Amino acid sequence: MAPLPTSNQFTERVSHLRPEGAYAVLARAQALEAQGRKIIHLEIGQPDFPTPPHVSEAGINAIRSGKTKYTPPAGLPHFREVIAEYAGRQRGIPVDASQVVVGTGSKPGLFFPTLALVSPGDEVIYPDPGFPTYEAMIRVAGGIPVPIPLREENQFSFDLDYFDSKITDRTRLVILNSPGNPTGGVIPMDDLHHIASQVIKHDAWVISDEIYTRLVYDGVTAHSITEIEGMQNRTVIVDGFSKTYSMTGWRLGYMIAPVALADRLELLITHATGCTATFTQYAGIEALTGPQDFVEKMVGEYQDRRNRMLELVNAVPGIHAQKPQGAFYLFPNIKATGLPSKEIAARLIDEAGVAILAGTDFGEGGEGYLRLVYANSMEKIEEGMDKLAKWFTAL
Ligand code: PLP
Repeated sequence: MAPLPTSNQFTERVSHLRPEGAYAVLARAQALEAQGRKIIHLEIGQPDFPTPPHVSEAGINAIRSGKTKYTPPAGLPHFREVIAEYAGRQRGIPVDASQVVVGTGSKPGLFFPTLALVSPGDEVIYPDPGFPTYEAMIRVAGGIPVPIPLREENQFSFDLDYFDSKITDRTRLVILNSPGNPTGGVIPMDDLHHIASQVIKHDAWVISDEIYTRLVYDGVTAHSITEIEGMQNRTVIVDGFSKTYSMTGWRLGYMIAPVALADRLELLITHATGCTATFTQYAGIEALTGPQDFVEKMVGEYQDRRNRMLELVNAVPGIHAQKPQGAFYLFPNIKATGLPSKEIAARLIDEAGVAILAGTDFGEGGEGYLRLVYANSMEKIEEGMDKLAKWFTAL
């Protein structure tokens, strides 16, 4: 039998890749559950609501009526028009259908623009803590990752002094994520103006991951950097259906880019995935054009859960959290315990049966924090917080 390949037989561009922390913790939780242990799941960033029935029906009807063949790589023309109208209205900017490229989730909107923009040796700025795919994609493209810390006292927006010290003419790309994973922070408009002026000065690009843009609370608006003059022709907006329409498993998202870049992105899709599943795109049309009361109800529910989780977390000694303005994550500070985040996360699942993520699953800047997900029922949140409180109190 031929010997099994070893990792050093693979390219540099894949040898650095690691699993996402959420999948590793989920695997641990499932192993414990297989032994009969009860685990409260606060680790996976996935809405607990079902996909709205009218959206699922649109997908099912599309299959029944034979919409099961290839579409153009960038997506069904009508779907691209619907997205352009919706995304432009949402942000108050003009968007043309030719700028829209549909993908299998939002992740292609991170991967393909990074491949199209970053040459080996180019520097890329991204948030730390931040969604792990950013760093992974920068490295796959051969870019040099330049993490910028997020500051708790600044609603987990960039440390702008540090940002100013790191952005140079070697910076090719800046990745933004507002509302952010894992912190729930929303970047204030003033910060966006500051970032935009630096990006223009250094002739860089922006990937603006706006997947949580409609999951905002207390009347807050998560502004897009594309609202700022001069930014639309150097920004790729990334958005999708996973979080807003509870469609994680449908794999549906899109990127909006200047036309010349959108054409390149379409070619990458052509050769990478061919196109996105046809019936999924029909479900997407229904999601954007059908009734929106599901989204409003879900956001109201998340806001209540956030408030409750925050109240319970802040009552626990040794741990305190800011009130996040968006997404569905709480990012409490556990520095007072003096313990590393990884150790707390590992012990919480093993000793208390509560699955959460360490802040360091999102980069070194996450040390001293935990990520808790409130996309779970109020009952489970209360049960999880009760177990967590008892564990911290016994420390
Ligand atoms: N961006 C952020 C910040 C996320 O948190 C996620 C998923 O958790 C994604 C992108 C990818 O989402 P999807 O590919 O399911 O649309």
